[in-house]
Amino acid sequence: MTLPYALLERKRSGGELSPAEIGEIVQGAVDGSWSEGQLGAFLMAVAIRGLSEPETSALTRAMLDSGERWRLAEDMPTVCDKHSTGGVGDKVSLTLGPLLAACGQPIAMLVGRGLGHTGGTADKLESIPGFSLDLDRRKCLRLLSRCGLAMGIATAAVAPADRRLYALRDATATIDSIPLIVASILSKKLAAGPAAVVFDVKVGEGAFLPDLDRARELANRLAGTLAHLGIPATAFLTDMNQPLGVWSGNAAEVLEAIECLEGGGPADLREETLVFAEEACALMGRPVSRPVLERALDDGSARERFFQWAELQGADPKWLAHPRLDLAPAEHSLPAARSGWLARVRTRELGLLLVEAGGGRARPADPIDHGVALAVRARLGDRVAAGDELGRIHLRSPDPALAGRFAACFEIGPEPLIPPALVVERIGFPG
Ligand code: URA
Repeated sequence: MTLPYALLERKRSGGELSPAEIGEIVQGAVDGSWSEGQLGAFLMAVAIRGLSEPETSALTRAMLDSGERWRLAEDMPTVCDKHSTGGVGDKVSLTLGPLLAACGQPIAMLVGRGLGHTGGTADKLESIPGFSLDLDRRKCLRLLSRCGLAMGIATAAVAPADRRLYALRDATATIDSIPLIVASILSKKLAAGPAAVVFDVKVGEGAFLPDLDRARELANRLAGTLAHLGIPATAFLTDMNQPLGVWSGNAAEVLEAIECLEGGGPADLREETLVFAEEACALMGRPVSRPVLERALDDGSARERFFQWAELQGADPKWLAHPRLDLAPAEHSLPAARSGWLARVRTRELGLLLVEAGGGRARPADPIDHGVALAVRARLGDRVAAGDELGRIHLRSPDPALAGRFAACFEIGPEPLIPPALVVERIGFPG
């Protein structure tokens, strides 16, 4: 065994760690023998120095081996998975899961908590009274056979190293490191063991990796590594230069997802959901046409599936009978500072402000205020007049100064512009 000090010193100065040494660090994260300070220093050294391909594989493997492997596809060969690298207002897992299940395509997802400026599906689901993300393999398979959909959180049993490192990355500004993202995501995908995976790699202002080349590198590494292991995978690069949909904030996003599942909701959310659903079915070799998917949204069957599934995962039936949005009560309007065209939305800053307002956590153990929410109705490229309402923020108590900082995230330009495409690129690796 090498002393943590020596490993940290080597990585800090750009040296290479062996698979056994990386295994020791991951073991230290799981059994507590590495302190938070030491793990934080390791993460920072990796964020600055990077990891080679063999180091990244060793980290992924060690994180995978830190817990159970569910090998879901052995019992359910048709099960797929989808994973997003995270964004602001990104609620596609909540819409995609029930839609696929309603169309006969089973899907299981190990979801995460908010990370940095991005929201997490786990936090969103926990805004539903009673909803439980506590799954084991048996419960997961039972859910899949009863309703075709299961969502759990990486527990003490599945990829436990990721649970600790994920929370620490959030607290140490080390979330945008490609090797750390790859190991975090793939260890969970491989632990669950689906038959195919669709990745949503966000790109633009509100993504972990705003730059197209870095996002493309991440997409290639995620999908390419899985395909190499025999699991067909596709990665889409999707736009995160503005929040997805209207609402960002845990409880509000659940309600917006339900709207989409009953045929309504914002056009971008519906489109992204349909793109991912088509791809997941095609990857599984069971293509479902766009009109069939659209019908499942419009005729209420996807919505019904959501309610059936949520109840099976513990959601309070009284809430499900009348889903209610308990928004934080202090509303502030966000006006346009001048006339022109909406040219830029500082999406990352909006996500960080939501965290500051209590809608996410600054420290791993912080509670979340599920009612804090941001509604953005203006879209990039829209023509606006000075004073027009671009959006609204819902805070726990009035805070005009904070609202002013939200409003300052919207930049108005003097000229018309072409809004960004929702789906930027598709990178496919049929396995
Ligand atoms: N999602 C994850 O599970 N891990 C990351 O590092 C980023 C997004």
